[in-house]
Amino acid sequence: MKAVLIIGGAVSGSTAAQKLTAEGVRCVIIDQNHMPYGKIEDGLPRWHDKQRTKEYLKIDDIMSHELVDFVPLTRLGKDLHFKDIYEIDWSCIYFANGAWKDRSFPFTEIENFSNFYYQNPFVYWFNHYHESSYKGISVDVKDNALVVGGGLASIDVCKIIQLELVKQKVESKIEGFDIVTMEHKGISKYLEMHDIDYDSLDINGATLVYRRDVENMPLTTIPDNSDSDMVAKRKLARRKVLKNTQDKFLFRVAECTQPTGLHIVDDNLEGLKIIKNEIVDGRPVAIEGSEDIL
Ligand SMILES: Cc1cc2nc3c(=O)[nH]c(=O)nc-3n(C[C@H](O)[C@H](O)[C@H](O)COP(=O)(O)OP(=O)(O)OC[C@H]3O[C@@H](n4cnc5c(N)ncnc54)[C@H](O)[C@@H]3O)c2cc1C
Repeated sequence: MKAVLIIGGAVSGSTAAQKLTAEGVRCVIIDQNHMPYGKIEDGLPRWHDKQRTKEYLKIDDIMSHELVDFVPLTRLGKDLHFKDIYEIDWSCIYFANGAWKDRSFPFTEIENFSNFYYQNPFVYWFNHYHESSYKGISVDVKDNALVVGGGLASIDVCKIIQLELVKQKVESKIEGFDIVTMEHKGISKYLEMHDIDYDSLDINGATLVYRRDVENMPLTTIPDNSDSDMVAKRKLARRKVLKNTQDKFLFRVAECTQPTGLHIVDDNLEGLKIIKNEIVDGRPVAIEGSEDIL
């Protein structure tokens, strides 16, 4: 019986295995890590505790299926080479190894500045910095940060910054301070419970810089066959989702705003040069004369 080889056993790899085993197909899954939890473990911020446990159980269940052979601690490219896997007559090889390399920022000289971070190591830092065995980058979260992106992951980054800024100010004032509880309640509500006024903390907050308008931010999906009424409703829902999140976590959004360069003062990265966009036929088009510095 031929088998399918799956590289990476997290959400994508395990879902593939679930579908294949349901059709009676044997699967061999290799993963570089001890457990194949991928982004669920090290991508989603640590407050997604319930979702994480649910996904872990789902993956564990699939890995224990009688038609699945799970091979942990095996990294393709290091422990196993392409020629090794091509020597075996698999019925198919399925790459489900995720997207662990952040897309480069368009002005790559930004990588020379210590106050610039890519999302993957930043979220990894947030998830693990409190562990004694943590060996990743160290992050100094400062006020007035700019987060360039759009979508769920960039909103999570804004939330992490806001939570960390508040933590810096109130951790010593609140007995049993817990950042995950503050995420679940929302910053304002959590502070209210402890008789602290957010405005008194003197935090300006992070700004999400997005090149399109909020209606075009992929926060909710719009099915392909939607009529114009449905599209309008879903787009309005996107604005509402973002507004609710902003109310809870108090970050700002600069929509239709596109970075055009770095703002460097005395060799320090102080901000970004930007231009405003207008949306024409769903595409962002730069507005001449709207250049500015954030
Ligand atoms: C900050 C953040 C917030 C997010 N929020 C949401 C959300 O709210 N809702 C939502 O639906 N999605 C969200 N996502 C996206 C979601 O987490 C991912 O899309 C999904 O988990 C990706 O699953 P995957 O299986 O494709 O990849 P991964 O989870 O990256 O899994 C890849 C697997 O392949 C293994 N692997 C990689 N390279 C090799 C190799 N060479 N050899 C062997 N094994 C290898 C890895 O160890 C890993 O187990 C978020 C992502 C981020 C980063």
